[in-house]
Amino acid sequence: MSFAYWDFQCESCGAEFESLERRSENVREKPCECGGVAKRCLSAVRSMTVWGAAERGTSQERPPWALDTRPLADGVSEGEWRKTNRKKAADQRYSQVKQLVS
Ligand SMILES: [Zn+2]
Repeated sequence: MSFAYWDFQCESCGAEFESLERRSENVREKPCECGGVAKRCLSAVRSMTVWGAAERGTSQERPPWALDTRPLADGVSEGEWRKTNRKKAADQRYSQVKQLVS
């Protein structure tokens, strides 16, 4: 299973957002909150190797840039998993900000 963060930009309101998608689906458009259509920006693709299910059971360390897909292998729904990842990213940003401020 391979995922990539794609950046999308709305053609109507100009909003930019990123979305985690399966590489195999090669998503090029996403609906925007404004009702417009956001197109994928080809210039800002951050791909990542997904670590987890395939390496499960090995002693290999998870590279910091890899997504942990083990919850998926444990039967967590993809929606829940995405939520967890978003929360992790938010927590990380928060602690970075806290470090800068203190
Ligand atoms: Zn929009």
